[in-house]
Amino acid sequence: MNNNSFLLPAKAICIAAFLSLNTVMYAQKTADISAISEKTLSNILEKNRTYYTQGKVADYIPELGKMDAKAIAFSVVGKNGKIFNTGDVHKKFTMQSISKIIALMIAVSEKGEADVFNKMGYFGTDKPFNHFSNLETTGKPLNPMMNAGAILTTSLISGEGEKPFLKILNLVRYITKNNTIDYNTSVYESEKSTGHRNRGMFYLMKNNGLISGNEDQLDNYFKQCSIELTAEDLAKIGYFFANQCVRFDGDSTYKNEELARLIQSQMLIAGMYEFSGEYARTVGLPSKSGVGGGIAVSVPGKMGIGVFSPALDQHGNSAAGYHMILDLVKQYNLSLF
Ligand code: GLN
Repeated sequence: MNNNSFLLPAKAICIAAFLSLNTVMYAQKTADISAISEKTLSNILEKNRTYYTQGKVADYIPELGKMDAKAIAFSVVGKNGKIFNTGDVHKKFTMQSISKIIALMIAVSEKGEADVFNKMGYFGTDKPFNHFSNLETTGKPLNPMMNAGAILTTSLISGEGEKPFLKILNLVRYITKNNTIDYNTSVYESEKSTGHRNRGMFYLMKNNGLISGNEDQLDNYFKQCSIELTAEDLAKIGYFFANQCVRFDGDSTYKNEELARLIQSQMLIAGMYEFSGEYARTVGLPSKSGVGGGIAVSVPGKMGIGVFSPALDQHGNSAAGYHMILDLVKQYNLSLF
C-alpha cells in the first residue's frame, strides 16, 4: 500500500464527516419554531417538574412564602401571536421584578434614555438583586434591573401619588390584553411592612439627590411588584419586547424598535442578576426573572416565553423555570449565539 492509497480513504472520511456535521449544524439553525405545540411544552414541563425540590420559595416577603412550591406553568407566544400553554395555566402569581422592564419603558418614554441613564448605569453585575453598595461608592445604581435602579426608575415616572403605578398597571393590561389584571393587596402590604432594605435604598438615593419625591414613590414600586398575572401573560410581555413593542395580536400603538432594543439589552446583561452571564452562555436570550417564580423571555423577532415555578435558586431565579427555558432553547436552537 503506498501513501496515497492510504490517504485517500482518510480524506474521504474527513469530507464526509465535515458534510454531515454541516448538515447537523444547518438542521439546528433552521429548527422550525412553528413546530412548537402544547405537547412540546408539556413534555418539557414534565421532564423538569421536580426541579422545584432544588429551590426554595421566597419568604423574605412573608406573603410570598405561602405560595405552593409545586405549582408550575409554561407558556409560549409564537409566530403571529399564537399562544401555547401547559401546566397550571390559570395560576396567578406576582410579577415582582419583571415589572421593572415595564417601568423602564415608561420612564424612558417620558424622560428620554439620556436622562434616565444619567442617574444610573448600564452595568452588568456579580451581585444579588438587592445589592446597593454602589450608592455609597459611585453614588448611582448599577442598572435598572436591580432593586436600587428599579426604585429610582419608578420614581422618575411623572404623576402624583399612585399615578405612576397606574401607568405601569395599565401598560401590563395593554400588553397582555387582559383588563382583569390587578395587584395583590396582601403581597403589597406584606412587602411594604417588611421592605426596610428597599426603604433604605430609597432614602440613600434621596440623600444623593437622585430621588426628589416622597414615600408614595416607593409604594408605587411595591405595588408594581405585586401585580398578579399568569405565565401566559408573561409570554405576551416577552413577545412584546421581542417584536419592537408590537402586541401579540399585531396592535402597534407602542411600536418602538429602539426602546425594545434598550429593554432587551438590559434584560440580557442584568435580568437574571448575578446569574446573567452564565445564563447568556446557556440560554442566550433577554430574560427577566422575579422572586414570585416567574421568568419572561424574549426571543428577538420571534416569540415570547413565560414560565412559572415559585421555588428559587440561590440567585433568586425560578429553578424549574430556568430548566424549562433551557430545554426549549436547546430543542429549537433559540439562543442568540
Ligand atoms: N419586590 C421584590 C423586592 O424588591 C422584587 C425582587 C425580585 O423579584 N428579584 O425585593
